[in-house]
Amino acid sequence: NQAKQARQTLNWYSSDLEEKMAWRLGLIRQLRQDFEQGKLEVWYQPQLCLQSESNAVIGCEALLRWPTGKGDYISPAVFVPLAEDAGLIVEIGQWVLEQACVMQKQLSSLGHDISVAVNVSVPQFKVPNYAQQVKQTILDHDVEPQKIELEVTESVVMDEINTVVHTLSELKSFGVEVAIDDFGTGFSSLSYLQKLPLARLKIDRAFVKGIPHEDSGAIAELVISLGRHLGLKTIAEGVETQAQADILRALGCDEVQGFFFAKPMAEADLLAYLKS
Ligand code: C2E
Ligand code: MG
Ligand code: MG
Ligand code: MG
Repeated sequence: NQAKQARQTLNWYSSDLEEKMAWRLGLIRQLRQDFEQGKLEVWYQPQLCLQSESNAVIGCEALLRWPTGKGDYISPAVFVPLAEDAGLIVEIGQWVLEQACVMQKQLSSLGHDISVAVNVSVPQFKVPNYAQQVKQTILDHDVEPQKIELEVTESVVMDEINTVVHTLSELKSFGVEVAIDDFGTGFSSLSYLQKLPLARLKIDRAFVKGIPHEDSGAIAELVISLGRHLGLKTIAEGVETQAQADILRALGCDEVQGFFFAKPMAEADLLAYLKS
């Protein structure tokens, strides 16, 4: 009887697993097709200076959007990990960088002297000559390298440290700055911060969320002070309230990004937003 039960459980699990795998495969196939047919979009979320009175827009982050065709979007939090597993993120990521360059060029020509930040996944960073490829793309689009920023997570820097140092140094000497995204949520050692030529720490939304009611503010405070001591700028993501902005400003956080200021928006909407 026990054996029968175990077999049933096993069957249940395996069919569940099969279903999940079929679902993933279907989604990957659809993603590849939609990407090839030019259906993916890049949206942009403003990044603002927190320390000036005017809260000037200093940059924006490029964020992938996958339309379902029914008026809504599949979250990149769902499909980017799939694209990473399928090896598709290298191609898609390169396309996002190209879009970001085109957008930066357009922004500059309209008098908006702001940077565009692009997210980079581990498999992209591992491509041989990755820094060279980024350089070439920026040169091809005739964009100021200082106006393109890369956002990498701790998982990227946890890779073979010498290779990472080399790639980042090459990017930096070209003028491209690198930020550590979701800082504090990974499991990397802090010692890498001294070794890597970084420009910014992005305080993860998880540490902004609880401000001002929970202890999470303590971590935001720590990251800001760490940044100050290491000569790195700090930017807080996921700022949703005035109180959070006020507290982060008082703590000395340099920049902000969050729904309180502006949500990610399509290209045309960002241009309209910057005009007003
Ligand atoms: P991320 O790089 O940490 O991007 C910030 C995410 O926080 C975005 O989610 C943004 O919409 C969201 N966000 C910003 N402010 C607020 C706020 O005030 N409240 C809340 N609740 N959320 C806020 P999104 O666009 O869904 O992207 C999720 C993740 O997908 C990104 O996290 C990034 O890891 C990944 N991703 C997006 N685009 C790309 C891409 O082009 N390449 C790669 N490799 N990853 C990407
Ligand atoms: Mg990011
Ligand atoms: Mg810059
Ligand atoms: Mg983040």
